[in-house]
Amino acid sequence: MPHYLVSWGDPRDRLYDVTIRFTAPNDIPRLLLPAWRPGRYLIQNYAANVREWGGSHRVWKDGKTSWRAGARAGEAVTVTYRYYAGILDAGSSFLDDDEAYINGTNLFMLVEGLRGEEHRLTIAAPAEWRIETQLPRVILSREDGEGPPADSASSVLAPGVPRCARDDTSFLARDYDHLLDSPVIAAAAMTRYTFSEGGARFHLIFRGGEGIDTEQFVEPTRVIARTQAELFGGLPFREYRFLYHVRDKWHGVEHEDSCSIIVKRSALFDAEGYDHLLLIAAHELFHAWNVKRIVPAKFAPYDYWTETPTRLLWAMEGLTSYYGALSLVRGGIWTVARYLEHLRKEIETLEALPARLHLPLSQAGFDGWLSDPAQMHDHPNAWYSFYTKGEIVSALLDLTIRTASNGTKSLDDVMRLLWEQRILEEDAVERAVAQVADTGDFFARYVDGVEPLPYAELFAAAGVAFASRPRAGSSLGAKVKMADGLLIAENVIRGGAGMAAGLLPNDELLSLDGTRTASEAALATALRAFRIGDSAELLVVRAGVVKRLSLEGRPDPRPEITLRAAQPNEFRRGWLHVSS
Ligand SMILES: [Zn+2]
Repeated sequence: MPHYLVSWGDPRDRLYDVTIRFTAPNDIPRLLLPAWRPGRYLIQNYAANVREWGGSHRVWKDGKTSWRAGARAGEAVTVTYRYYAGILDAGSSFLDDDEAYINGTNLFMLVEGLRGEEHRLTIAAPAEWRIETQLPRVILSREDGEGPPADSASSVLAPGVPRCARDDTSFLARDYDHLLDSPVIAAAAMTRYTFSEGGARFHLIFRGGEGIDTEQFVEPTRVIARTQAELFGGLPFREYRFLYHVRDKWHGVEHEDSCSIIVKRSALFDAEGYDHLLLIAAHELFHAWNVKRIVPAKFAPYDYWTETPTRLLWAMEGLTSYYGALSLVRGGIWTVARYLEHLRKEIETLEALPARLHLPLSQAGFDGWLSDPAQMHDHPNAWYSFYTKGEIVSALLDLTIRTASNGTKSLDDVMRLLWEQRILEEDAVERAVAQVADTGDFFARYVDGVEPLPYAELFAAAGVAFASRPRAGSSLGAKVKMADGLLIAENVIRGGAGMAAGLLPNDELLSLDGTRTASEAALATALRAFRIGDSAELLVVRAGVVKRLSLEGRPDPRPEITLRAAQPNEFRRGWLHVSS
């Protein structure tokens, strides 16, 4: 079986030493490194971080992300290479003096022809470190000859790094895909809470949570797990790990029996951060069903080397976001008002984006591979998140099914049908919905089309009043930011006063109607005195030249949304599983 050993010398260079030992399945075996990872549907070219090859045979490149080893079929081959691991997000790999964080998609090459075989992984971490991963540990016995070769750790560890001779540093993946799907944290210090729920053991593991009450997340997590298990009639695993890094941003990635979540430390000291952590946890746990085990046929198996567009991404992410938030209100962690405030914000985000008028939801996911903000021109006008619209459309679809079936059926029934199918053809969600209730042309209008979403009518059935109003006062219709002490138009929204006046992204804003606009606050003050219908001179600097634009006062193209629960309502009780 292929054996992957990860070690490192001086962590200051951020370089992992990866050793792969395998028996060549054919002459001139091929090694392939993924170009993207499940959960982030964008080419990321991990091969750019690979360097310094060595081992038993000559190795040469034969493609952007593939290599060949000069071995004959049946020969024992050892290849070594180094991998630069300098970024810590949920899907990356990172090396520091007190932590090794590894996502196999970044740095484990497939030996072509061995994908379906069991894969062994050994992490040569310092002896006093702990290792957390969803992979089962290998119980090594010295007699079976299957342990790490006697020279494996010592030959690649630099002097001075403690060698780990314990037997709990080796893990067994059932195949290459399982190896890739299993992030590993090896670290000197981690906090771990364990509880049992629904016949499974859950572990909450925190890196860097010092000074924060991380234990407060244990009981709500149990409630989330119980609520989601109820929907599907049980949990799909016996053991599950939440791997948390407390850092400086939010990010989460789902896996089969674990998830990896980056938490924004500064946010954890208020109620909003507490809610956000649980919202991400609930989202990632729901993925243990939706996307990890209910999988688009296009991803079965994953092609890690090529873009794989599917029209189902809105359902993979949108249904997951919908049920993630729903499990907080259904579990009693959130009140109805808190849940409606969450939905309101999502709706306000979507309704502010001009792309909702021309980009169908199924296409937004299909085209996700083109959505890198660094590469996409006019991102704010051309794009919206299929997570956001996917969640909103999931909510409206649920309300449609409940209305059409007089409350006897729901989106929960659709999820259970998808859970029976597991592998989804491109039209599987639409077909499952049709099996449950007659929702008319819902998909043609709101999933594959761009019709305005029927909020008011659908929320009314649940006793929730929806309103969309223009914002008071005039607006520039642009997002501004400070850069190097200058106020810059970061983007200009279609339909707003700025675009009508000819304002372009990257213009520096100098003054409005003679008032200096040297900061965001100064611009806001100048706009307050500027009424709808007024005309004024807007001075900007474009490519070093001062330009005079004529700005006409217009309302902000982004509406203000309100969602309010009226008197208690039977429909709403059935939807949100609440008693009032
Ligand atoms: Zn997700």
